[in-house]
Amino acid sequence: MRYPFSEIEPKWQKYWEDKKVFKTDLTKTEEKLYCLVMFIYPSGAKLHCGHWYNYGPTDSWARYKKLKGYNVFEPMGYDSFGLPAENYAIKTGIHPYDSTMQNINDIRSQLKKMGGMYDWNAELMTCAPEYYKWNQWLFLQLYKKGLAYRKNAPVNWCPNDQTVLANEQVQADGTCERCGTVVIQKNLTQWFFKITEYAEELLSDLDNINWPEKTKLMQRNWIGKSVGAEINFNVDGSDEKITVFTTRPDTVFGATYVVLAPEHPLVDKLTTSKYKKSVEDYIESIKSLTEIERTSTVKEKTGVPTGAYAINPVNGMKIPIWIADYALLTYGTGCVMAVPGQDERDWEFATKFELPVIRTVEPPKDFEGEAYLGDGPAINSDFLNGLNVADSKKRIISWLENNNHGTKKINYRLRDWLISRQRYWGTPIPIIHCPKCGEVPVEEKDLPVELPYDVKFKSEGTSPLLSNEEFINVKCPKCGEPAKREADTMDTFVDSSWYYLRYLDPKVSKQIFNKELAEKWTPIDMYVGGAEHSTMHLLYARFIHKFLRDLGLVNSNEPFANLIHQGTITNNGAKMSKSKGNVVNPDDFTVNYGADVFRLYLMFMGPYELGGDWSDKGITGSDRFVQRSYDIFTKHEDILKKASPKEQYNIEEMKDEEKSVYKKINQTIKKFDEEINNFRFNTAIASLMELLNELKNLDKCSDEIAAYTLQRFAVLIAPVAPHLGEECWKLIGNEISLMEKPVWFQFDLKALVEDSVNIAVQVNGKLRTTIEMPLNSEQAAVKESVFADEKVTKHTNGKQVLKEIYVKNKIYNIVVK
Ligand SMILES: [Zn+2]
Ligand SMILES: [Zn+2]
Repeated sequence: MRYPFSEIEPKWQKYWEDKKVFKTDLTKTEEKLYCLVMFIYPSGAKLHCGHWYNYGPTDSWARYKKLKGYNVFEPMGYDSFGLPAENYAIKTGIHPYDSTMQNINDIRSQLKKMGGMYDWNAELMTCAPEYYKWNQWLFLQLYKKGLAYRKNAPVNWCPNDQTVLANEQVQADGTCERCGTVVIQKNLTQWFFKITEYAEELLSDLDNINWPEKTKLMQRNWIGKSVGAEINFNVDGSDEKITVFTTRPDTVFGATYVVLAPEHPLVDKLTTSKYKKSVEDYIESIKSLTEIERTSTVKEKTGVPTGAYAINPVNGMKIPIWIADYALLTYGTGCVMAVPGQDERDWEFATKFELPVIRTVEPPKDFEGEAYLGDGPAINSDFLNGLNVADSKKRIISWLENNNHGTKKINYRLRDWLISRQRYWGTPIPIIHCPKCGEVPVEEKDLPVELPYDVKFKSEGTSPLLSNEEFINVKCPKCGEPAKREADTMDTFVDSSWYYLRYLDPKVSKQIFNKELAEKWTPIDMYVGGAEHSTMHLLYARFIHKFLRDLGLVNSNEPFANLIHQGTITNNGAKMSKSKGNVVNPDDFTVNYGADVFRLYLMFMGPYELGGDWSDKGITGSDRFVQRSYDIFTKHEDILKKASPKEQYNIEEMKDEEKSVYKKINQTIKKFDEEINNFRFNTAIASLMELLNELKNLDKCSDEIAAYTLQRFAVLIAPVAPHLGEECWKLIGNEISLMEKPVWFQFDLKALVEDSVNIAVQVNGKLRTTIEMPLNSEQAAVKESVFADEKVTKHTNGKQVLKEIYVKNKIYNIVVK
């Protein structure tokens, strides 16, 4: 009979739901295990292959842990604010709230059909006022501590999405992370969270978490710590000072010019009348360039002199002050001391504009390059001469500090997190702008500032909330005069920076989350999601967690103790995309095969962290496994009512078929356990398939041994094919569901011992055959078998045996003449 998945899967889903099998008792913290996948963005596309690949295997791991006795908490929710719903509204006129709610309902029922072990009591969605109220509360706490602030700055603007973007949302090629449009720079007044305050801790705590090395490295590079010095250069004939940041203060004797970022406030003051026009023209010409374009190593260097000169503090040399776009106002001090001898960019610039080059580190004799970046003795550097780079740095920093010319300085590449967006579908920023009082935070008792339903969506670069007069016009909470609400909304990464804490008690109304539970249940024991979040969500959440710790709300330093990134599923080697029309729709397959087969196939495709290539045919292999397993169990229906298997058997007393079945099931328990524990689903499932082959001998076993084996096999199936596992467990005669009363069997250590070995037989150094022998057989017994084998005697008959050498359990060598 064909496995009736379309009856069995809904039956178990209903059972689990009715009996609240997956409602976690969070007060029990012994053996607690918080397993989490990155929550879902509820788009109109519903669940695609990538979701299934993130959620299915992770759920299998969580189920395995539950069977092993852990108190597992696995929640699911919706990251439900965001641009796509709003863009959809602009296109179709359907309000983001309406489309989002519809999508959430559809997705929830899809998730239930997948058979996920989610605790639906903990479900949350970020677009609900009872959730985003706490984004606003979080904002106010940051604001109070000076960690949320507004400033005018050059920011990234996506012309397509009509909103600013955080640096983290601009990809390496200068395009928008959401839509791929080239991002431009605009000077705008925006809200920032001061993530830089936590830069050092965000860096050093990476050593204390179990994350993929590659992800940690990306965060390290993004934070970009460099140790150097700030050095003050006096301006010739002026009281102004230029402070530069450099990671190579040891090269200061080779500084032959100074570069200011074109936006630097000193540019206007220092530029001499002769150069005013060319400086203005230059500033105009680079306005549209992004930081990434400006600092690109392949771009030709550009710049103009200001006509002013600085004095190098170490040698009194008069050096020209230039402006150039490769100096950024957002990095260091916005001023660079140029040392062409030791810096490639400066070399290129100096060569182009015929500025002098002074080497301060002696390159090796065979060095043929231009700027020399390596180590070597200092030259042309007065009291530093002869010292290596590290010693020179120390010496010059103390000299600068003693002579009041500069200080040691640590610099980070990390910039503050730009969180305001000129879009509608997000959390309103709880600030009121009063003509008299300025920025006035909304009082906590007045939260939430609810997002109004009625707005005009076609925004063209201004915040849609401006179109709702009733929302915008308010009385100032301080002076009572007419004032205006902030019309920007928050980056949705604010919503996702703390959601894992809210899951523990999503309805709690007096505090942002249940502090008591948060202290017991964080950090998250296992977090699984895409690597594309490495320097966005995964960085922001660490920052906010540390901030919440400083508020005394959590007692851990990090939100996610363990992290795994799932790989990507491709289709015929190509990335799935709508435009290529090669997207695999899970529904097409679950309709024909059921959720278990689909989940199994995804896990079997390849190593979880690498992903795999989809094949329509490949899924039939998983289907066959499910079918054959089901057949075996139906054949042995109610076997537990006929036989009560013991915990362990003596293999010496078994007949051969029983012995091999008994050994195989115990070996499989051991193997499966090791593999699935480490997210190696493909090899875990492979071990079950091997076991299934061995079970052809089940009919030759006693009922007791058959029952013993099937009990264990059902438990092994349960994590990877959850509905089938429950069904099989019941078929053999168990009354209580496996997930309701978790069971895991220990393997019998004695059954793991290999009792036979394969011995290679060589004649005159050539391998002729291998023979199977009992472990530790003596030479006489082996010899007898060797010379009974035709493949050996063919080469020894009629010849003189000169020598026989036996290496125990390994090899039998014969030399003949
Ligand atoms: Zn965009
Ligand atoms: Zn006021």
